[in-house]
Amino acid sequence: MRIAVIGAGLIGGGAARHLARAGHEVVLIGPPEPEAKRSHDGVFGSHYDEGRITRKNDPWAFWSRVSRESIARYGEIESDSGISFFSEVGAMMAGPADQPLIARVEAVRAEAGFHADRYEGAALAERFPYFAFPEGTLAVHEPAGAGHVSPRRLARAQRVAAEKAGPHGCPPRRRGSRRPAPACGSPPRRARSRRTGRWWPPAALPTCCCRVRCH
Ligand SMILES: Cc1cc2nc3c(=O)[nH]c(=O)nc-3n(C[C@H](O)[C@H](O)[C@H](O)COP(=O)(O)OP(=O)(O)OC[C@H]3O[C@@H](n4cnc5c(N)ncnc54)[C@H](O)[C@@H]3O)c2cc1C
Repeated sequence: MRIAVIGAGLIGGGAARHLARAGHEVVLIGPPEPEAKRSHDGVFGSHYDEGRITRKNDPWAFWSRVSRESIARYGEIESDSGISFFSEVGAMMAGPADQPLIARVEAVRAEAGFHADRYEGAALAERFPYFAFPEGTLAVHEPAGAGHVSPRRLARAQRVAAEKAGPHGCPPRRRGSRRPAPACGSPPRRARSRRTGRWWPPAALPTCCCRVRCH
């Protein structure tokens, strides 16, 4: 099938990678990250920075499962793209031991069966002396398979892995043009009309088009 994915963020990049791997002809469309954010008047993405917490612990079984399946693929995406984005520094959720939220986190983990360390009272203060938790806190710490990702680098890694999954990676062309379209992530080509003085395309339009499979 020929499929256009609109929006080259974390979800769009992931969708393009899966579709390209499944043998579809995929075009991933979306603007590059704006350089001057203050003056940018087009669309924004929520991946224009360096820090996202990633963890298996969650009060909801669905989100824990989705996270575990995502985290399990980080290594493959990093090696397919050659771009590292995951720092496995661990993650911790903490809250009052008698509140339903932390009890739900415990229940989800018990059912899923992944490892985490529980800390309370003096043991918690000794393990994490740089935090000051109130009395009665229960902390659930995942020492491995959790930490933080760079969303900027992850979005790029997904795009690169999607491109590599296509057989040719030939550059896309604008209809009727002999010039190849700009590579994904390059600044948009724009021209100013002498007659109207307006820029085309306007900044709000997606101008980066990354064809991950050509035939
Ligand atoms: C400050 C902040 C902190 C967060 N912290 C965490 C965290 O710690 N852990 C966690 O798991 N999640 C966190 N999130 C949420 C996570 O970043 C988002 O859920 C995720 O980025 C959403 O991915 P997305 O692909 O749906 O959207 P986005 O990443 O926003 O991507 C959308 C893409 O579509 C493009 N686009 C928009 N309009 C158009 C258009 N008309 N045509 C073409 N392209 C278009 C945009 O340019 C962008 O590239 C955080 C989010 C923010 C903002």
